Amino acid sequence: MTLDVSRLSRALMVCACTLSLTGCGGSDAPEPHSSPADAAQWVAPSTETPVREQAIPRGRLGDAVVPTAYALNLNIDPDADRFSGRVIIDVRIAEPVDVIYLHGKNLTVSAATLSAGETLIAAEYAQVDPSGVARLSLPISVSAGHARLTIDYGAPFSTTLDGLYKVEEDDRAYAFTQFEAISARMAFPSFDEPRFKVPFDLAVSAKADHSVISATPVRRTETAVGGAVRHVFEQTPPLPTYLIAFAVGPLDINDAGALPPNAIRHEPLPFRGAAAYGKGARLAYALESTRPLLEGLETYFGTPHPYPKLDIIAAPDFAFGAMENVGAIIYREQRLLLDENASLKQRQAFVYTHAHELAHQWFGNLVTPLWWDDIWLNEAFATWLAYKVSDQWNPSLQFSLRLQRLALETMATDALASTRQIRQPVESNDDIINAFDGITYRKGGAVLSMFERFVGETAFRDGVRLHMDRHANGVATAEDFMQSIADGSEDERVVPAFRSFLEQPGVPLVSASVQCDGVPTLTLAQQRYRPLGSAVPEGGDWQIPVCFVALDGEQAEETCHLLTKPRETLELQQCPQALLPNAAGAGYYRWTLPSDGWAALLDRIDRLSPPEQLSLIDNLDAAFRAGELEFSVLRDALPVLAAQPNWEVATRLAKAWALYQNSLVDEAGHAAMRAALRTAYAPRFEQELGLQPDPKEPNNDALLRGRLAEILVRDAADSETLARLAEAADAYIGPQGGAMQPGALPGDVIEPALIAGVIERGPAFADRLWARFETSTDAILREHILTAVATAPQPEIAAEARRRALTDDLRSNELLQVLRDQFAASVTRPDAWEWLRQHADAVLARLPETSHGRIAKYPEQFCSPERRAEITAFLEPRVESLFGGPRTLDQTLEKVDLCIALKQARGEQVAQAMAAAEPVPAP
Ligand SMILES: [Zn+2]
Repeated sequence: MTLDVSRLSRALMVCACTLSLTGCGGSDAPEPHSSPADAAQWVAPSTETPVREQAIPRGRLGDAVVPTAYALNLNIDPDADRFSGRVIIDVRIAEPVDVIYLHGKNLTVSAATLSAGETLIAAEYAQVDPSGVARLSLPISVSAGHARLTIDYGAPFSTTLDGLYKVEEDDRAYAFTQFEAISARMAFPSFDEPRFKVPFDLAVSAKADHSVISATPVRRTETAVGGAVRHVFEQTPPLPTYLIAFAVGPLDINDAGALPPNAIRHEPLPFRGAAAYGKGARLAYALESTRPLLEGLETYFGTPHPYPKLDIIAAPDFAFGAMENVGAIIYREQRLLLDENASLKQRQAFVYTHAHELAHQWFGNLVTPLWWDDIWLNEAFATWLAYKVSDQWNPSLQFSLRLQRLALETMATDALASTRQIRQPVESNDDIINAFDGITYRKGGAVLSMFERFVGETAFRDGVRLHMDRHANGVATAEDFMQSIADGSEDERVVPAFRSFLEQPGVPLVSASVQCDGVPTLTLAQQRYRPLGSAVPEGGDWQIPVCFVALDGEQAEETCHLLTKPRETLELQQCPQALLPNAAGAGYYRWTLPSDGWAALLDRIDRLSPPEQLSLIDNLDAAFRAGELEFSVLRDALPVLAAQPNWEVATRLAKAWALYQNSLVDEAGHAAMRAALRTAYAPRFEQELGLQPDPKEPNNDALLRGRLAEILVRDAADSETLARLAEAADAYIGPQGGAMQPGALPGDVIEPALIAGVIERGPAFADRLWARFETSTDAILREHILTAVATAPQPEIAAEARRRALTDDLRSNELLQVLRDQFAASVTRPDAWEWLRQHADAVLARLPETSHGRIAKYPEQFCSPERRAEITAFLEPRVESLFGGPRTLDQTLEKVDLCIALKQARGEQVAQAMAAAEPVPAP
C-alpha cells in the first residue's frame, strides 16, 4: 500500500480530540510510562510497502507489532449489565504495517486510534475470528518505530465464569475475572499471549461503597463521574495479560495485617483476605496458614515474594480451584472458606491449592512460559513444589503421598494411545485448552519429583534458583529450565533424560528380573506400558532413573541406575529375597516382576514405606490390566492391603475394585465383590475407628474414617454402616424449621453420611437436604448436599438434582459438580447420559467456552459397544465446536474400548475368582 496523504489528513481531523490522549470520551485514563523520549523513535507515515497481510493469526500473533506498556481504565458496576473501558497500549512496530493484529473478544469498540508524537491516525477495529483475534486497519502504512494505540470500548459482563464476569448472591452483585488462558481479551483489547510481559497502569471506577482489588496497591482514589470512586493502582512489574485480575463489589475485606519480615524478606508484606458480603470471618484458617506456606516458598527460592502485596479472594462462583493472579489470587469458596467443621480432606485441598498458587508467584508469574506449549512447566512445578512445602509445614496431612497417588492415577490416561506428551506443540486454541490436564499437572509434577531425586534435593534447588535469577520478570522455555537445572546441579545427564520424559508420550514399563545362578544379576528392560486391547505401539526410548531396593533378611539396599538402553543387566552383591524396582515409589514408571517376585513383595509388605506400598498396589493392578497377572492375586491381596496402617495404602485397591465390580462382572459377581469390600473394611470402621473421633487421634485416622465410610456406603453397600450413618445424618441435618447439629458428624464423614441418609430414607430426607441447600450460602455444605442427592440410587431424586442444575438454584460450578458426580457413580450414569444428550445446549450455555470440551469426558466410564456407539453418534458431530473436545473425545472412546477389551479378556476370570473365594461370613 502506498501513502495516501489525503486520507491521512482526514484521519487526523476526525480524531483530533484524541491528541490529548484524554480521549473523545473525556475520560482521564492513566497513561503508560513507556513513551519514547526521543521523537525520532515514533513511527511515521511510510512509503514502504507494508509486509503484505498475512493470514489471520489464530495461534501466535506475529512479531511485527508488540506491546511495551498498557494503561487500562475500566468502569465496573456489577449491578449493571455492561462494563466499559479505555485501553492505551504502547507498541513497538518492527516493520512497516497498515494492519495490526491483536486480541479482543465480543467487545464493542467506539473509537480506535494510532498516535505517534503529533501524528494521529484513526484505525478501524474488527474482530476477525470467534476465538477473539481482532484487526486494526490503518488507512495508511506506518514505518517501524514506537506508537500508541488507544481503544475505547464496552462489553457485557460474561455470565460464564470467564473474562470479566458477574456473580450475584443474596441480591448483591460482584465482578471477578478469570483470564487464563485466553480470556483477558474478553475484558480489554490486548496482545493476549504470555510472552508479552510489560508494565500495566490500572485504574477502576466503581461505586463508592464497592471495594476494588487488583494486582498492586492503590496509589490514590479520586472522585469520578456520578459519585463513583476511581481507584488508581501502582504500576505493575512486567506482567502478561493472563495474570491481571479484578474483584469489585460489596466485598468483606478481612485485613489480617501485613506478613512480618523474615530472614529472606526484609519488608512486611501487605496481606488481606476478601470474600462475598458477610463471609469474611470464614477466611480465618486461610489467613493463618498463609504465613508458614509463603515462608516455606521464600526459603526454597531464597528470594522474597516477588510482588508488593497479596490479597486472597473467595469468589462465590469460580470455574477452577483457584487462579494465581499477581497480588490477587482468586479461589472458589469451597477451597478458601473453611469453618471449624471443615473436614481434613477440605483442609488438605485448601493447603495444596493455596501452596500451588503461591508457588506460581515465582514459577509462572516472575518467570513466565514463552508460549502455552510450556505451560506444563508452570503447572508441574507449582504442583510439585506445593506438595513439598505443604508437607514441610504439616506432614500429618500426607501431601507427598497424595501427589504420588494422583500421578499413579494419571498413568491410566498416559497409558492411552491418544495421550499427549508433557511438552506438546501448541498450534490451536484446542491445544491450549488440552494443555491444562493431568499430564501437565500430575505427570509433570511427578517427573520433576523424580529428577529432583536423581540430581539431589539441594542441587535441584540450586538449579531452580539459578533459573529464577536468570529469567526474573521475563519469559523462559523448557530448554532454559533444563539448562538451569543442569548448570545448577552440575549434572549434564539430566537434560537428555528429562527430555525423554517431556517429549515422548506414554508410561514406561520397567520389567525387572533377578537371575541367581552363578553371579547374581538383575536385568532391567524398558518398553511402553500397554494394557489389554491397547493400540499403543511397542517400543519406547526413555532414560529412566531407576532406583531399586534389594530386600534381604533385615537388610534393604537401594541402588540407582540410569536405564538408557532397551535392556541392561547389572551385577548384584547377592541374590535378594525380594526386589522392589521403584524405591520410595519416586520414579514415574510402571514396573513388573515375574510372578514369584510379586508374591515375595506381598509377603514383605510391612517392610515397605507407604509410597512403596502404593507403588506396589498400583503396579499389581496395572499388571492385571495388561493381562500379566491373575485376578486371584488382587482378590487375595485385598484384605492384606486393607489392614495397612496408612489410609491411602489401606484404601487404594478399593478404587480399582469398585470399577471392576461395576463394569466387568454380572450381578452375582457384583454381590461377591461388594461382600469382599465389606469383609475387608467394615471391621476397621466399626471397631477400630468408630464414628466419633478421639480428640487426640492422628490425622491418618480421621482421613481413613472418611474414606472407609465412603467405600462402605457407596461401593460395599454395607447395611449396618448405611443405617448407622443415616441416623447420624438425620441428627446432623436437624428437624425441618429447627437448627442443624454440626456436632453430630465429624467433618470427614459428613458427605458419606448424607449419601447414606438419602439411600436409607429416600425422598423425604432429600427434601430436607434441599431445604438446607436453598437457604445456605455455605459452599462446602452445598457441595456435600449436592453430592448426596445427585448420586441417589432413587431415579427421581437424582433427576431433581439435574433439573435444578439448569436453574438459578445452582451456581455454574455446582452444575459441573452434578455432572461429575452423576457420571462417576454407575447407578446414576445412564440417566445422566440420557439427560446430557437432551440438554447439552443448555448445559454449555452455562459454562465457559473453554470448559465445553469437558462434556466429551463425562461418558468415559461406560463399558459396552452400545454405549460406545451412542457416544460417537452424539459427540462426533459436535466435538469440533467444543474447545479441547477432539482429543478429549478420542481419550474417552479409547478408555471405553480398553474397558470392553478387559471385560472380554478377564471378566470371566474375575467372576470365577470371586465365586471361588471363601464364603463371606454373615454379618
Ligand atoms: Zn496452577
